Amino acid sequence: MNIKEIGEFGLIDLIKRDAIVDAESVVVGIGDDAAVFRPTKGMLQLIATDMLAEGIHFDLRFIEPFELGYKALAVNLSDIAAMGGIPKQAVISIALPERLDVAFVVELYRGLKAVARAFQVNIVGGDTIGSLHDLTINVAVTGEIAPEFLQRRSSAKAGELVVVTGRLGASAAGLLCLQNGLREASFAPPLISAHLTPVPQVELAQVIARYASSMNDISDGLASESKEIATASGVGMLLKEHCLPCDAAVAEVSHRLEKKALDLILYGGEDYQLIFTIAPEKYDALLTMIPPRAVTVIGEVTSEKDSVSLLRLDGAIVKLEPKGYNHFT
Ligand code: ADP
Ligand code: MG
Repeated sequence: MNIKEIGEFGLIDLIKRDAIVDAESVVVGIGDDAAVFRPTKGMLQLIATDMLAEGIHFDLRFIEPFELGYKALAVNLSDIAAMGGIPKQAVISIALPERLDVAFVVELYRGLKAVARAFQVNIVGGDTIGSLHDLTINVAVTGEIAPEFLQRRSSAKAGELVVVTGRLGASAAGLLCLQNGLREASFAPPLISAHLTPVPQVELAQVIARYASSMNDISDGLASESKEIATASGVGMLLKEHCLPCDAAVAEVSHRLEKKALDLILYGGEDYQLIFTIAPEKYDALLTMIPPRAVTVIGEVTSEKDSVSLLRLDGAIVKLEPKGYNHFT
């Protein structure tokens, strides 16, 4: 059905269904001029927003509307996770080109609501407009954190361990599979899922936040995210190539397409894993609280200001340039 047939208000009625999953914190959801919600006493309030634009962040030839909705909320929850926070409320704005129909929007929201339900986040509002050409989705999320667990980028200290969650390079390898007709390859499905429906590390981040000193989520690639922590903290980092967690499947894609797995890990981005620094004496305590192999030590914080280096397999130490995706260069 064409959107014109049901109109903006008909569409919002569809969106409204099952939008609230944690009614206790919501006073007014979709349907008024502003949403009204109750913060939890004693908690700091977080707010983050991330926008996905057609042609820049996604290509509708490769991503289904359900997956797009899923990803749009997941990447926002990843930002709340990176502060150590608990995500709570979301508002979602969409600019819809005429070529998309009602079924597309319903699927988009099915993806958004799947993530919202999984992480107990309410969809409390948004905005809907027409667009001349491309589809844009903007999500803003609030979250909460106990003041003592807040994780900034700016508090890494020399001598700490640099640690990441999960495996890196999977999302970039998944995108390469989609772009190079490798969708059907046996190694492709987990990589493609990592790219299209990344799982934000919300629960793990809340545990890590009790022990870590600084944290970031890996949206723009390891090189770029580690540099952000180094710069904000006025420290350096030495990362070790032999420690970087890489899946066999990522290595396989790199091999087939004559790419370096190391480049996918360092510069690929969109892994939505976490990078954090932690005092060595707190690391063992953290390990007792999380699943085995959930995290990997990849290097150390140094006192060399504002510089990230890589100890290569051949023993050479090279400076890492933060050449992740940058919208204006
Ligand atoms: P207003 O004119 O006051 O801005 P709107 O007509 O834009 O109100 O929206 C009506 C209600 O629907 C509001 O509660 C708004 O937050 C919600 N809403 C509009 N578009 C969306 C959307 N894409 N997703 C979720 N909620 C939406
Ligand atoms: Mg409006």
